[in-house]
Amino acid sequence: MLDLQVTEYQMKIQRVKDNISLHAQDTQKLQDDIEDQKEEKSNKSVLLREMSQQMSPTTGDSSPVEHWACPRCSNINELAVRLCSECGFVPQDIASLILVSD
Ligand SMILES: [Zn+2]
Repeated sequence: MLDLQVTEYQMKIQRVKDNISLHAQDTQKLQDDIEDQKEEKSNKSVLLREMSQQMSPTTGDSSPVEHWACPRCSNINELAVRLCSECGFVPQDIASLILVSD
C-alpha cells in the first residue's frame, strides 16, 4: 500500500518534471520565434529603405530641357536665355511663349 503511494508520488514528480522540460522547450521556441521576427523585421526595414531610395526622384539629368520659339523669327532659344539669339527679340511675358521641350 505504501509502496503504491510512493510509486504514484514518483509518477507525479516525473509528470511535473516533464511539464517543466516541456515549458523549457516552449520558452526556447518562443525565444527563437522572437529572434526570427526580429530578423524578419530588420530585413523588412532594409527592404523598405532600399525601395524608398529607388522611388525617390533623382535630381538633375531627368528633367527635360525646355526651349521657347521666337514669335518673330521662329528661332528656338533655351528657356534660360531671355532674348532671341537670332533677332534679339525680348519676350515681355514668358507665359505667352510657345514652349518646346525635347
Ligand atoms: Zn527671334
